[in-house]
Amino acid sequence: MAEATRPILIVGGGIGGLATALALATKGYRSHVLEQAAEFKEIGAGIQLGPNVFKMFSILGMGLGMGLAENIRRLATFPESLIMMDCVTGEVVARIPLGQEFLARFQFPYALIHRADLLNVLLEACQQCDRITLETSRQVTAMTDHGDHVTVTTKEGPTHDGAALIGADGLWSTIRSLLLHDDKPRVSGHIAYRAVLPTAEVPERLRWQTMAFWAGEKTHLVIYPIRGGELTNLVAVFHSKRYEEGWDSFGDPAELHERFAGTCEEVRTMLSKIESWRMWVLCDREPVKCWTRGRVALLGDAAHPMLQYLAQGACMAVEDAVCLANQLEQAGGDFERAFQAYNQMRYLRTARAQLTARLYGEVYHASGVAREVRNQVLSQRTPQQAYDGLAWIYDGIEGTPPRSS
Ligand SMILES: Cc1cc2nc3c(=O)[nH]c(=O)nc-3n(C[C@H](O)[C@H](O)[C@H](O)COP(=O)(O)OP(=O)(O)OC[C@H]3O[C@@H](n4cnc5c(N)ncnc54)[C@H](O)[C@@H]3O)c2cc1C
Repeated sequence: MAEATRPILIVGGGIGGLATALALATKGYRSHVLEQAAEFKEIGAGIQLGPNVFKMFSILGMGLGMGLAENIRRLATFPESLIMMDCVTGEVVARIPLGQEFLARFQFPYALIHRADLLNVLLEACQQCDRITLETSRQVTAMTDHGDHVTVTTKEGPTHDGAALIGADGLWSTIRSLLLHDDKPRVSGHIAYRAVLPTAEVPERLRWQTMAFWAGEKTHLVIYPIRGGELTNLVAVFHSKRYEEGWDSFGDPAELHERFAGTCEEVRTMLSKIESWRMWVLCDREPVKCWTRGRVALLGDAAHPMLQYLAQGACMAVEDAVCLANQLEQAGGDFERAFQAYNQMRYLRTARAQLTARLYGEVYHASGVAREVRNQVLSQRTPQQAYDGLAWIYDGIEGTPPRSS
C-alpha cells in the first residue's frame, strides 16, 4: 500500500468519479472529489448493469471490507431475460435468458437499478471511508501539472493541490479539453426521451420481469422494471436533426408520437402513458489512443464516451476505476507510469465498446431488407451463441473477486 502526501484530485462525482475514489481507497490512496453540482446526484432514470461491473463491485467491496455489491443487489431488479421485439409487428425477434444459465456462464448477474440508488450506494461507501474527501459546488475550470504535483482552480474561488488529477467529468469534460484540446463530442443525430412510470399505470399484459425493447426503423423503445418492479423505466430513441447541446431538457411529445407512428399497439400504448419526458441528445467521440499526460488522466465518459446501445458506459467507467487503482499499486505510486499503463490497458477495450455501440444502434434501427436480415439472424441464435457474442464484454477484466452466489 502506498500513501501520497497530497490527495489525488478527482474532478466529477458521478458513477465514474465515486468508483475511482473507492478504488483508490482500496489501495491506500487518499482522494478529494470535486463535484460542480450542489449535491452528488444522478438523474431519475434506470440503468442496466452487466456482470462485468458486478465483478468490479465485488472487487471494490472486498478491498474496502464493505458489502458494496450486496448493497447494490439489494436495490437492484434481476430480469429473467432480455427480449428484442420488432417495433412494427410486435413479434419477439430474440430472447436471451438472464437466469441460472447466464449466471453459470458469466458468474455475475445482469441487473436493472434506479440510477439514484446506485449512486447513493457508492456515495455512502465514500462517506464511510476516511481516505475520501467529498466536496460539492466546486466547478474546476483550470489545472496545472507542476511535475511533482497538480493544482486545480475552481469557479467558486478556491484552488486545490493534489498528487495527481483524474478527470471523471463526463461527456463535456473540462479536463479533457484542457488535456487533449480536441473538438466537442460528436452529435449522433439520435435523441433519447426518458421517463419513469409507476408500474401500476402499465397495462398488466406489459408488466414483464424482463429488459425488453422494440426495434424499429430509426427508432426503438426500451422498457424495464426498477425498484423491485414498483417503477418502470422507459427510454424512447429516435433519429432527429434537432440539436441541443448537453443533457436533460424537456422533450416534445408531439415529435415523439410522430416518430413512433406506425409502430405496434404495445409501443404506442406505452408511449401514451407518459406526458412529461426528459430529452438527451446522444453524443459520443471517435476513440483516441491517449487520454493521459504526466500526472493527469481521464476516466469514464471523459475518456471514451459511447452511445448507450451496449448499456456499458457506466460499467466501463467502473472498470476504468479498478484498473487505474491496480496500475497505481503496481507502479508503486509512480503516477506517470501508472497512468500510462492504465491508458494502455483500457483504450482498446473501451474503443471496441464505443464502436460496437454505434453498430448496435444501426442494427436496432434497421429498415427494409436490413431489418429482415437482422430479424432472421437474431431469431436463429441460441442462448449460448448470444452469450458467446457478448463474452468479450461480460467476462470483464482481470480480477479475482469472490464468486457470485
Ligand atoms: C440514454 C442513456 C442510457 C444509458 N444507459 C446505460 C446503461 O444502461 N448502462 C451503462 O453502463 N451506461 C449507460 N449509459 C451511459 C452512462 O450514463 C455514462 O457512461 C456514465 O454515467 C458516465 O459516468 P461518468 O462518471 O464518467 O460521467 P458522468 O455521469 O457524466 O459524471 C460526470 C460528473 O462530473 C461533474 N462535472 C462535470 N464537469 C465538472 C467540472 N468542471 N468540475 C467539477 N465537476 C464536474 C458532473 O456534474 C457529473 O456529476 C447511458 C447513457 C444514456 C445517455
